[in-house]
Amino acid sequence: MKNDDPVSAKPRRGARAVCDRFVLRQLFDVSSCTYTYLLGDRRSRHAVIIDTVFEQYLRDLALSQELGLKLVAALDTHCHADHVSGAWLMRQATGCAIGISKRYGEAVVGANLRLDHGDRVALGDSYLEVRATPGHTVGCLSFVTDDHRMAFTGDCLLIRGAGRCDFQHGDASTLYRSIKQQIFSLPDECLILPAHDYSGRTMSSVGEERVHNSRLGAGADERDFVGFMKNLDLPHPKQIAIAVPANLACGRPPDGKVPKPADWGPVWQNYAGLLEIDPEWVAQHLSEVLVLDVREPEELDERLGWIAGAKSVPLDELRARLVEVAQDKPVICVCHSGTRSAQATVILQSAGFARVANLKGGMLRWQQTGLPVEHSVRSAG
Ligand code: FE
Repeated sequence: MKNDDPVSAKPRRGARAVCDRFVLRQLFDVSSCTYTYLLGDRRSRHAVIIDTVFEQYLRDLALSQELGLKLVAALDTHCHADHVSGAWLMRQATGCAIGISKRYGEAVVGANLRLDHGDRVALGDSYLEVRATPGHTVGCLSFVTDDHRMAFTGDCLLIRGAGRCDFQHGDASTLYRSIKQQIFSLPDECLILPAHDYSGRTMSSVGEERVHNSRLGAGADERDFVGFMKNLDLPHPKQIAIAVPANLACGRPPDGKVPKPADWGPVWQNYAGLLEIDPEWVAQHLSEVLVLDVREPEELDERLGWIAGAKSVPLDELRARLVEVAQDKPVICVCHSGTRSAQATVILQSAGFARVANLKGGMLRWQQTGLPVEHSVRSAG
């Protein structure tokens, strides 16, 4: 079995089953304090992304690709009021389904997985249970792994809190019953993975929240909870006028355009945030780009050679010699393996170069791909 998760190499007792069966990554959007979860079945590599954020689409897509996961669905726990969903973008990129509660009815356009209580979302041999947990909104869902070890609770149960109930047909009594019946009925050790946290907390457990949740833990009854929630006095969400209409279209922008990292070539952004491009495209478009080789001059005469027409500026000298790098064409940074050129790409971007990308894999991959190289004596450009 491919082991892409160093944490799972020697899982702790208790975490073993989760790590053995699932690949889990928790991602964070700073501007909306949203947690996104990438959850994959380790054997089949089938995966879902839960509550992906529009602006984080390239990051989330890169992670799923780098982990070798095949997205089967982009799931939203509910129609969010504080950020726009990236579900539609994920569907454009991967063909995955878009899943959201059927309880929003015809108001939601573009979802092809209308989920309700008792449904299952298959992940290879594993599945997620769909539990209706309304109260924050009428269509809130929680997703629970089939082994009851992880619950993705959206804005229903938060860490030491619960989702507000003062808009989108929210109702505190309903939320109280959702949490008690659908979440607190899970085993104590079941992890709680919410859609938000505003204080740096990442996860909790059912047992922990049952005791310590400030709104309905310990002996709090429905009246206690409703009284607390009615007096939250929170400001109206800043994004609600934009986010709710956009999310009723599953995050499809009005112009239907998918944001691209570059308009001049098939550039992608990897999970490290670096813009990269494949050597095959560069080889076919050499006249349209400037290849910037940032290796030391003596390396150019070694076995790997250099790319025809490349300009040589060693990485150590790049900041001082930026004026020598023309900006009339996109700049492709290259080195031995793609590591130093990654740093060169960042330096050029910081200096204001708008069209720049790193050559994926550097000269090593260029030569492995069988692309032509120069070997004769050269005068550095
Ligand atoms: Fe919400």
